[in-house]
Amino acid sequence: QSFEELGLDARLIRALSKKSIEKPTPIQRVAIPLILEGKDVVARAKTGSGKTLAYLLPLLQKLFAESSSKKNLAAAAFILVPTRELCQQVYSEVTSLIELCRVQLKVVQLTSTMSVSDLKTSLAGLPDIIVSTPACVQTCLTKGMLQAKALQESLSVLVLDEADLLLSYGYEDDLKALTAHIPRRCQCLLMSATSSADVDKLKKLILHNPYILTL
Ligand code: AMP
Repeated sequence: QSFEELGLDARLIRALSKKSIEKPTPIQRVAIPLILEGKDVVARAKTGSGKTLAYLLPLLQKLFAESSSKKNLAAAAFILVPTRELCQQVYSEVTSLIELCRVQLKVVQLTSTMSVSDLKTSLAGLPDIIVSTPACVQTCLTKGMLQAKALQESLSVLVLDEADLLLSYGYEDDLKALTAHIPRRCQCLLMSATSSADVDKLKKLILHNPYILTL
């Protein structure tokens, strides 16, 4: 199966081709069509399986459609990750895809090492996508740099990447606090290398009747 057959936008396919990515991996073949349909998805996927693009490609496609129709009040998508390194990695992957697609989407990364003034600057331009650790999003919410009401109105996709690590690194309370601000219609995607009782708890807390993919 090709990326075209999965229903992916031609701009994304061209961007992938420039990165010499021509054929979807098994996780991408299953996850992309479901995410494009708007389903909540839990995917058991390790680093190296192509899990980042499995959620990024349909997420971007959804935002391409939305950005032409409305002005966001806050981020339209949150990608929550457990570490600064993964934050940087996902951020570079998204920005490079957006550049190659020549679309106007603003992406920012937020980490706990940033000063309050840097965080404010990053959030000032109304980003479309925020890549962050849960603690940093929570800080921005409590300090009023992100408005809970704006999130309720704007958030359309939430990704929890390496969800098993999100919990073992102690972000459970931040995630719980954050769930109060996630609108019911928001599509939620959970990527995890393992399936544990903790991941199950997170799944129950955040997702609605998700498709469970184990590959
Ligand atoms: P990940 O599992 O997201 O950490 O991705 C691991 C690496 O595989 C990254 O460098 C991706 O750019 C690359 N990759 C992702 N999808 C594909 C694909 N369909 N074909 C070739 N490489 C890919």
